Amino acid sequence: MKRINIFDTTLRDGEQTPGISYTPEEKVKIAQQLDTLGVDVIEVGTPVTSEGDRKAAELISKLGLKAKTFGLTRVLRGDVDAAIESGLDGVHIFVSTSDIQVKHALNMTHEQVLSAAVDSVQYAKDHGLICEFTPMDTTRTRMEYLKRICIAVEEVGVDVINIADTVGVSTPDRVKRLVEDINKITKVPLSVHCHNDFGMAVANTLAGVMGGASQVEVTVNGLGERAGNASLEEVVMAMTLIYEWKTGINTRLLYETSQLVSRISGITIQPNKAIIGQNAFAHESGIHTRGIAEVPLTFEPIDPELVGRTRRFVAGKVSGTRGIMKQLVDLGYNPTIEQAREVVMKVKELGDQGKIITDADLMTIANEVIQKKDMEKLVDLTELAVMTGTKMTPTASVKMLLNNKTYLSAETGVGPVDAAVKAIQKITSNMIHVTLNDYQLGAITGGSDATAEVMIVVEDEHGNLVSARAEGRDIVMASIDAMITGINTLLIKQKMVSTN
Ligand code: MN
Repeated sequence: MKRINIFDTTLRDGEQTPGISYTPEEKVKIAQQLDTLGVDVIEVGTPVTSEGDRKAAELISKLGLKAKTFGLTRVLRGDVDAAIESGLDGVHIFVSTSDIQVKHALNMTHEQVLSAAVDSVQYAKDHGLICEFTPMDTTRTRMEYLKRICIAVEEVGVDVINIADTVGVSTPDRVKRLVEDINKITKVPLSVHCHNDFGMAVANTLAGVMGGASQVEVTVNGLGERAGNASLEEVVMAMTLIYEWKTGINTRLLYETSQLVSRISGITIQPNKAIIGQNAFAHESGIHTRGIAEVPLTFEPIDPELVGRTRRFVAGKVSGTRGIMKQLVDLGYNPTIEQAREVVMKVKELGDQGKIITDADLMTIANEVIQKKDMEKLVDLTELAVMTGTKMTPTASVKMLLNNKTYLSAETGVGPVDAAVKAIQKITSNMIHVTLNDYQLGAITGGSDATAEVMIVVEDEHGNLVSARAEGRDIVMASIDAMITGINTLLIKQKMVSTN
C-alpha cells in the first residue's frame, strides 16, 4: 500500500488567500491542530517576509511537533538564513522557471535562475536543512530546461522536487505524464502542488500521485491564492477511500480542523463543499432518506463518523414519510404513519411557498399534528441590553432563565449580535456547548424599517446540527430569538437521544 506524505501549506499558500492574514498566535494554534491531525510537513510561512512570520516560525519550531516545519524562501541566501534563524527543519526554495515568468516576473536569464537555484539549495544543504525545490510554474516550463534544473539541484543534494501547477492550468493526464517524465531523469522523491483555477486541483493532485509523486501539497478548506489550492480534506478522503493509499492523517479530526481554520481565517465554507460543507451529510429527498434509513451506503458514499461528522435529515418539499419519521423520532416524537404523512404534507406546502423548513419549524408542525407536547423552553431570555456606537466596544448584557433559575452575563464583541451571542453562550455553557455554525440575515420587506429574517445553524459538542429561524424588525432581537430557539431545539434533541 502506497504511503503518501501530506505537506500542508494552509499557513503559507493558504495565507496568500485574499483577505487572510494570521497573527503568530493564530498560526501556532493552527499548527498544533495540523500536527494532531497527522500531517507530515507544515509550511509555516515565509520567515523573511515580515516580523510576524518570523516570530510565528520561531514559536512553531519550539513546539516540538511531530511534523517537520518548513519555511518558504526565494533563491537567496538571506532568505535561507531567516529560516535557519527561526529554527525550522527545512526550506522550500522556489524560483520561476517558465519563460513567461522568468522574463516578466524575475527579469533574469534562464542561466541566472539555474545558478541561483543551485547556489541556494547547496547553501541550505550545507547548513543541515531538509530542502525542497520548486521550479515554479512547472507545468508551463519548457521540458528541456526543466530537466536541466532538476538534475542540477539533485547534484547538490535536494531532498524533494515539487511539480507545481502554479496557475492551475494543467489537467490530470498532463500532470501524470509530467511526473512520470521527471521521475525518469531523477531519483529525488517528487511532490505535486496544484491550484484550482479550473476546479481540477484535487484531480490533478491525485493524478500526480498516480504518476509517481510521493507527496502532495494541500491546504485545509482548499484555501489559497485565487481559486485556492487542492483541499486537504478532499485529497485525503479520496486517497483513503477510493484509491486506498495510506496517509498519516486521523480522518476523524478533519471536520474540527476545518472548523478551526474557518473560524480563525474568517472564510466560511460553501454549504455544498465535499466532506466539510454543511450539506455534505444532509439528506432531504424522500428516496434518499428511505434508502439511507435502511442501508446508509445506498446514497451516502462516506460514513460521516469517519470524518468527525454526523448525518442529518432535512425537511423540505422533496421529503418523504420515512425521512420525516426519522427526524420526528430523533426529536422525541412517536408519530403514527398517518401523522407523519400529515407532517410531510404541511412541510411540502411550506416548501412550495419557497420556505426553508428549519428543525424548529418541523417541531412546530409536529406539535400541531401530533399534539404531543408543548415546545419546551428550557432556556429563555428575560432581559437584553446592547450598546454600540463609535469609539466604544459593542457590549451586551443578558439575563436568562435556565431551568427556571436566573443567570446574568455581559460580553463584548465585534458588533451587537456577536456580543449578545457570546453572552448567551457563556450563560448556557454549563448546560450545552453551542457554536454558531452559520448565520444569514435577509430583509423580507424593503426600506430601513424592513422585517429582517435571521436563519442560523447551531452545533452542540456532539456534532448535532440544528437550524432555526426568527423574524423581526430589530435585527439584534431577531438574531437572539433564533439563537434561543436553536439552543432549545438542540437541548430537546440531546434529551431525546439520551432517553431513547
Ligand atoms: Mn501555490
